[in-house]
Amino acid sequence: MSNKYHIITFGCQMNEHDSENIGGMLEDMGYENCDDKDNANIVILNTCSIREHADERFYGKLGQLKKKRLGDPNYVVAVCGCMMQQEHIVKNMKKKFPWVDIIFGTHNIEEFPRLLQTCMEKRSKVKEILSDRDLVPERLPSSRLYKYKSFVNITYGCNNFCTYCIVPYTRGREKSRSIDSVISEVKFLVADGVKEITYLGQNVNSFEDPDGRDFTDLIYETNKIEGLERIRFMTSHPKDLSDRLIKAYADCDKLCNYIHLPVQSGSTEVLKRMNRKYDRDRYLGIVRKIKEMVPDITISTDIIVGFPGETEENFSDTLDMIKEVKYDSAFTFLYSIRKGTPAGEYDDQIPEKIKHERFDRLLNDINKITADKNREYVGRIEKVLVEGISKNNKSKLVGRTEGFKLVSFFGEANLIGEIISVRIINANTFSLEGEML
Ligand code: SF4
Repeated sequence: MSNKYHIITFGCQMNEHDSENIGGMLEDMGYENCDDKDNANIVILNTCSIREHADERFYGKLGQLKKKRLGDPNYVVAVCGCMMQQEHIVKNMKKKFPWVDIIFGTHNIEEFPRLLQTCMEKRSKVKEILSDRDLVPERLPSSRLYKYKSFVNITYGCNNFCTYCIVPYTRGREKSRSIDSVISEVKFLVADGVKEITYLGQNVNSFEDPDGRDFTDLIYETNKIEGLERIRFMTSHPKDLSDRLIKAYADCDKLCNYIHLPVQSGSTEVLKRMNRKYDRDRYLGIVRKIKEMVPDITISTDIIVGFPGETEENFSDTLDMIKEVKYDSAFTFLYSIRKGTPAGEYDDQIPEKIKHERFDRLLNDINKITADKNREYVGRIEKVLVEGISKNNKSKLVGRTEGFKLVSFFGEANLIGEIISVRIINANTFSLEGEML
């Protein structure tokens, strides 16, 4: 019987992809993935520090492993990810969770097999955290969540220092891979059955490869790959969104008509204090250009509510903004202090009650817009990449349109991984219903 691993991932797609790589490395070592932490020999928690909520959930999950770990000397608990890049958290971990076997960070995940071996051979605790890295890891093994779609990391780290964000401190300065190496990875994935790739990075559109080629060059190159059907990317920063990239939407048939363009606030004043490096007008100008070039594009965004100093007037600007852009969807977050960030020190923090009240109003408006936008799809025929069986109805399949809308419809499981035509027959707030053609 082979050894088993179980990974618990918190946070963003970068973390999800890191977990796929950790899984791939463990499988190369002969381990098997396992859904149940209690039946695994090794459990890895890949942490996120972007929001308070993820921190809390991590400590809760870690606490659940204590009894099993202390009762079973062969059970290994490893912790990695963004939280481990923060000194005060590692200190706290060593004090409160001394039974954790391995602690490593975001800059050395490729070293995990060595750390695991050291821990098991020497029966000792292992901690290895680097403050940054010079080289980006290339082509790590990966245990992909999906056979027919894949994440591909193109940049690591971030140079933007938005004042609320911990990422530049936990993921280090931005580094880009070379276009040649990215393209060869995508070709390898396509040969392995992948139809859709999502380029990943904290700020993908500031990508610049060692030869000076930029993100738009990468998109044009990727579009030439035979057998690949869809290209997505996330996350893009409005300040780096070039006219060339907007034009690539018209030129590149594989680039999906979808963009995630985080606005964070509709108020120029708040954007300045967030250090976002664009203002309300510039953002709206970019959206206008995108819509002119790609009239059927779907746009999603991130919004933070209750940033320090946010006045009722600033918040109204955000409400106006969502009405003007008419986002297809929005990820909304309550601002929470991240220790070590400039905004965490601002002395005009917004009381929780006000934050929650604004959050509810925003959500109410966003949901109405999302539902209206979805209703526009009824009667249309959409190309859908079938992703799996619906959780709510086992005889239904679910998939994504080019515009990243979730669609459910009746169909057989052998269609999973295929791109099929679906007529939309009903619209809900967060999803569409369709029938296969
Ligand atoms: S762009 Fe801003 S929000 Fe995004 S990772 Fe970088 S610092 Fe954080």
